[in-house]
Amino acid sequence: MKVAAHLLQAANLLLHPGCAFCGLPRLPGYPLCEACHADLPWLPVEYNPTIAGCTASLSAFAYHPPINNLLLGIKFGKNLRELAVMGELTAVGILSQLPTVPDAILPVPLHTARLHIRGFNQALELARPLAKQLAIPLLTDTITRHKATQAQTELDSNQRQHNLHQAFRVQKPIRHQHIAIFDDVITTGSTARELASLLLAHGVQQVDIWSCARSILRQKHEAGAQIDYH
Ligand SMILES: [Zn+2]
Repeated sequence: MKVAAHLLQAANLLLHPGCAFCGLPRLPGYPLCEACHADLPWLPVEYNPTIAGCTASLSAFAYHPPINNLLLGIKFGKNLRELAVMGELTAVGILSQLPTVPDAILPVPLHTARLHIRGFNQALELARPLAKQLAIPLLTDTITRHKATQAQTELDSNQRQHNLHQAFRVQKPIRHQHIAIFDDVITTGSTARELASLLLAHGVQQVDIWSCARSILRQKHEAGAQIDYH
């Protein structure tokens, strides 16, 4: 191929980048092609069990392939392009099911030692497109995580709650009445419960829990319908 042809191809890719997953032509104004969109394990709202203390529980996806692998890859590989795509897709999934708009989003804080090692808080980065599209603030320094908790995935349900007890600390007065806690993945909901009880104890009236993905039984999600990307 001539140099000019290579340049033209590169320019075309920059101007019209393909689907973020497969490279084929994507849907207008959307990071994916129709087939990749349809293949994702979108999670309908009726498959989101409620969590004690939280009014609404919304997750964009079931924690199944390829979402689980993408999230793990982003967390440990710092793939910023995939992180941006996942943030956009999460916003599509959450906004399509949103009953009421909260006053602010609280991404689950990461302990500073872990933040230092990883370089970014995945929950915060995934929540950015949601906050932007809803035009509401992200609360990044209202609550901090002061206990370097053991990775939740290594613990059973009781150990998780004990592990999280008093892990979070309120750093400034909370003025918002309705807050959505945002995490990358919800498994047992113990982190959300701990944060929700802290927010409610500090005068917040309504707490929702949102996430990119949620661990649910495979059969349950597969019985569900797909959602539209619009
Ligand atoms: Zn595709």
